[in-house]
Amino acid sequence: MIAHRTCSRCKATKELNEFFLVSRGLNRRRAACSACEVAARKANRKANPERERTYINDWRRFNREKVKAYNAAYYQRKKARLAQSK
Ligand SMILES: [Zn+2]
Repeated sequence: MIAHRTCSRCKATKELNEFFLVSRGLNRRRAACSACEVAARKANRKANPERERTYINDWRRFNREKVKAYNAAYYQRKKARLAQSK
């Protein structure tokens, strides 16, 4: 038997696998079907380009710190190796 569910947005009754899982492991699904979820996310991004930009900037800043830390560690290792070879 295939479980069905009514989408909270488009009110269409669809198979359960048409709904995104809330989290893995649990058998819980989103109230809206995947088509509605995707459309809503797209509309949200269009309506809030500022928030999307902030998110990208935060990601960049975070990664720049990570790259800086990595480079510093690499430089220290290189310096230590040079000191040893002398
Ligand atoms: Zn729907």
